[in-house]
Amino acid sequence: MEKTDIAGNISRIKAGLPPSVRLVAVSKFHPAESVEEAFRAGQVLFGENRVQEAAAKFDELRSRGIEPELHIIGSLQRNKVKEAVRIASCIQSVDRMELLSEIEKRCVQLGKAVDVLLEIKTGEETKSGFTSGNDVRAALSALSAGEFPHVTVRGFMTMAPNTDDEKAVRDAFASVRRLRDSMAAEFPGLDLGELSMGMSGDYRIAVEEGSTMVRIGTAIFGERDYGEGA
Ligand SMILES: *Cc1c(COP(=O)(O)O)cnc(C)c1O
Repeated sequence: MEKTDIAGNISRIKAGLPPSVRLVAVSKFHPAESVEEAFRAGQVLFGENRVQEAAAKFDELRSRGIEPELHIIGSLQRNKVKEAVRIASCIQSVDRMELLSEIEKRCVQLGKAVDVLLEIKTGEETKSGFTSGNDVRAALSALSAGEFPHVTVRGFMTMAPNTDDEKAVRDAFASVRRLRDSMAAEFPGLDLGELSMGMSGDYRIAVEEGSTMVRIGTAIFGERDYGEGA
């Protein structure tokens, strides 16, 4: 098999993105060497969905003076929050209120502040994400009231339904953008500017629907090997 042209993939994807849209290179299941290769090609921001895997990889890179920025994008168990806060600058996958208090607690212990995105469930097959506008409102109310002073909300994240039905995908992204617009009007003191929407297969649609951050794995690093040793 031919070696994946990571640098070439990054520059091709970036050339097709508006300059205001950030690229998150999703390096899950790919080794530290692949992250390093992307970093040396100018890619600064990475996404990982499993905290232990991310910690091993990014601690190793940082011990060698390579300092990529890391966002956690996968659903998070409470007992992984401490490690997530230690290694990441943003947790994009906050899918329930309970996580916010845990993140705040760990931030205080570690003397850190982190950004978060609230994950909104739009696809049937994804398990995680807020499903009700009232739950989103409750979380934003608490953030707005200053209950979590070390946690700064920046916007919303979603995974669209995994389907070839382009209209369904577009509707999912548009619904998150509309939710954001209405919550931004309700909570003018919060910054809800970020919409993390779009993966390898659907990021062009996501950008058309207002995404500010696309999370791309396969189109940069190639297919993931979920087999033994992954
Ligand atoms: C794996 C993953 C991605 C990247 O998916 P690709 O299809 O490989 O681009 C994006 N977002 C989340 C939350 C993921 O888990």
